[in-house]
Parts: sequence; C-alpha cells; structure tokens
Amino acid sequence: MATVAGVAVEDGHWIGGERIASAETFEDLSPIDEQVIAHIARGGAEEVDAAVRAARAAFPAWAATDRQERARLLHAIADGVEKRMEQLAIVETTDNGALLRSHLRGVMPRVAHNFRFFADWLLGLGRDDFETRGHRNHVSWDPAGVCALITPWNAPLMLATWKIAPALAAGNTVVLKPAEWSPLTASLLADITVEAGLPDGVFNVVQGYGEEAGAALVAHPDVRRISFTGSVPTARRIAAAAAAHLVPLSLELGGKSPLLVFADADLDLAVNLAVEQYDNAGQVCLAGTRLLVEESIAEEFTERFLARARALRQGDPREMGTDIGPQIHRDHLARIDGFVRRALDGGATALLGGGPNTDLGGLYYRPTLITGAAPGSEILREEVFGPVLTLQTFRTEEQAVEMANSTDYGLAATIATGSPERAERVSARLVAGTVWVNCFFVRDLRAPFGGARQSGIGREGGDWSFDFYCDVKNTVTAP
Ligand code: NAD
Repeated sequence: MATVAGVAVEDGHWIGGERIASAETFEDLSPIDEQVIAHIARGGAEEVDAAVRAARAAFPAWAATDRQERARLLHAIADGVEKRMEQLAIVETTDNGALLRSHLRGVMPRVAHNFRFFADWLLGLGRDDFETRGHRNHVSWDPAGVCALITPWNAPLMLATWKIAPALAAGNTVVLKPAEWSPLTASLLADITVEAGLPDGVFNVVQGYGEEAGAALVAHPDVRRISFTGSVPTARRIAAAAAAHLVPLSLELGGKSPLLVFADADLDLAVNLAVEQYDNAGQVCLAGTRLLVEESIAEEFTERFLARARALRQGDPREMGTDIGPQIHRDHLARIDGFVRRALDGGATALLGGGPNTDLGGLYYRPTLITGAAPGSEILREEVFGPVLTLQTFRTEEQAVEMANSTDYGLAATIATGSPERAERVSARLVAGTVWVNCFFVRDLRAPFGGARQSGIGREGGDWSFDFYCDVKNTVTAP
C-alpha cells in the first residue's frame, strides 16, 4: 500500500477480487518533482494468465446478468467516482502531472459520465427489427468474452473508462493494463468497483511494463477483444499479436492534427483555439499542433498568439492558477527536445520557447512555436506529444487542404473560418476522424471517435463501442 498525496493506493494487481503482489516491483515517479511515490507490482505472463482466467470464469454470469442490473452497477461505479472525485484528481495529478484544475473541473466528472452514458446507452441499444419476405430479422449484441484493454499515461482514467464502461455494459469481463508511468488511478477504480458491488473477476487490473504484462495480455489465447490507445509503434506490435488469434482490435493512436486559420476567421477565437493546443503540456493526441494560417493575416495572428502564449503560467500542476505543468517523464522530455533541436538545426526558428524551462527545473518544457521548418521535415510530420506547435502559411484553400492532409495521420482537424460554406467544403476534404469548426475538444459520447490512416482503426462511442465489444448477431425467423 502506498500513500500518495494523503490517499491510500493499493500497489498490487487486482485479480479475481483480490489484491495480488508480484515478486518484483517497479518505481512510480511523480513528474512534479521526480520523486518515487509508489512501488508497483510488476506483472508478467503469470499474472496476466491469472487475470484472464479470473475474467473468463466471471464471464458467463456477468453476460447473463440482465441489462437493468448491469446498468445499475455501472451507475453505482459512477457514484463512487463522484464520491472520490477529489482523491482521484489529486492522485492522477501527482502521478501524471496533468493539471489538478482540469482533473477536478473536467476530467473526473467525465470519468463518471463515461459509466453513466454507456449504462444508459445499453438500455436503449437495439435496432428495429425488419422483415424479409415475411421472415423477421432480429439483431442482437452478444458479449464477446474477455476484453484486453491497454491504455496510455496522458489521460489515464479518462481513456481507460472510455473502454471499461462500454465493455462491461455490453456484458464482457475486462483485464486492464494501465501505462507504467501512471498506474495509480486504475488501482483506485478497482476499489470503487468493489464498493459498487461489481462481482469478483468482472474487472481486473494487471500492472507492469508494456513489453512484459502488455505483450503477454495481447498474446493470450483466451482474449476475445483488444482495445488499445497509445502510439503507432506499439500498435504495430499489438496488431501482430492479435493476428495470431484473429482477435478483433480497436486502435486509437497518435496524431499530427492541423488547425487551419482562414483570413475570414474571428481572429480572437482563432488565437484562443491555437493557445488551447498547449493543454496538458501538449500531451494530447488530438492537439492541433500544426498551425496553418492564411498568409494575409499571419503576421497579426502570430503577434496576438505570442502575446497570449507568453502569458501562460507554467508551474506546479497542483496550483489552480497553473496553465502548463510538467511533461510525464525525463525520457519523454528528452524526446520532445530532440525533435525541437533537430528542427532548429535544420534551419527552423523558435519564435517562442525552444527548450526546457530551466527556471523550474525538473520536467518542464517551455511552450514552443516553430516556424520556417523545411517542407516535409520531421517536425511537420511526426507527433512530438509536447508543448510544441509549428506555424506555416498558405495562400489558397486548395493549398491549405493539401498541407492539412500531408501527414500519415488523420485523427482530427480544426478549422477557424467565418464562412459556413468554406467550413463544409474544407471539412469534406480533410482526412480526419473528427473535424471541429470554430471550436475544439467538444466530445459527445454519442458520436464516433477514432482516426484515419495511422491514427487508428475503428471507432468508439455510442453504437460503435457496442458493435466492437459484441458479437453482433442476426436471427432470422420464418413466418
Ligand atoms: P505507448 O504505445 O508507449 O504505450 C501505451 C500502452 O501500451 C502502455 O500501457 C504500455 O505499457 C503498453 N505497451 C507498450 N508496449 C506494449 C506491447 N508490446 N504490448 C502491449 N502493450 C504494450 O504510448 P504512450 O506513450 O503511453 O501514449 C502516448 C501515445 O498515445 C501518443 O502517440 C498519443 O497520441 C496516443 N494517444 C492516442 C489517443 C487517441 O484516442 N487516439 C489518446 C491518447 C493518447
């Protein structure tokens, strides 16, 4: 048991309704000061096998539990999240360095909402029956079995519950492998599921490294679905493992999203949208990190943007006035800095930032704006996953679309324009799972969410989630 920010957090796995230790542990560091905050059980093939067996044993009874009861239990979990909102928020902030303000006001309420939404959606699930020459077609959603869920560190509980809630609602049992850089809130969620009365073995957590626990989980022959959020290189390994047993998989991956600012845009709004891309210290898959600005307004846009960005307060994420906290880990900070150094060495200029914030020490990286990067260069193609934006200009709508679509990613895009016709025209031509027009990060769980190209495979949200987590069946009955 660890005590993190005054909150007791179990450091073992959660398997079949029991806390299980491993022979070895790994250190969990806080990005705020790089101090060790917990020693977490380091799972491998053995713990994964125990968790999958527990989930498999719990599956028939859970799958047979009627929808009303499953929905009631998911609402009880949401109640537990709400009751422990402050604890979850401070533990998550201490563990991954994201702003306490965001966790309290936005993220944790949405964690509770994830459970409520999918509980309610389950009760409404079902498409109208239809007839074929007098025969009745009836579509049903049968739970698939044990679902392996693998999640990243940038929004740990939020992203895990996007998967856990629909998987459980559909009648599946779950084994979650959280990211090793942010393992704590998954452990608190296990406590909450107990308080809610979820039967043992329905929800399981195996802690550990990706190459050990993660790899063992996705290779397990009794797993019926794999849902992964993370990076493209890991997705390739997971897809190869899934191919061995032909397990359906959902991949929510990285992005290099554009934010297009047309000359007819409300400039204040466009500047606000651009500054918002530094949220979570830039560690947001959806971030519109490529600012594409119409040449005629580029100078004014840049001036206003720099004034706003310079006013951002960087510091301790537990302070309510902080806008930008630390990066997750020393290795990640070095990776971000590597991208920036190579861009600058290649002739680009940093109009803002361009390196770590040495005044704060530790893992703080200055909000950075890069201009003059060579077309096609790494900084314009690769996901940096830090507070690093690039600025490019365009002259025509045609050129803007071409630049927007010029990466291997296709997760999201944002358009700032005063013309609804232009918004419609441009949106239709963008390769992206989500397009925001004059807004950013508005996310409704009824809507499909996912990426095109290397940003992923599949969609989450509403029916799309249930389609993935179920074996959808059509029963045809003669008249
Ligand atoms: P990552 O791929 O390094 O790790 C993600 C998870 O995969 C971790 O739990 C890790 O332990 C596990 N893992 C690593 N190797 C594994 C293996 N061989 N087998 C099974 N599991 C393995 O990603 P990250 O650095 O934690 O997260 C950042 C990435 O996630 C970025 O690319 C970001 O864009 C992406 N992301 C995407 C979305 C989305 O919804 N599209 C949301 C958030 C983050």
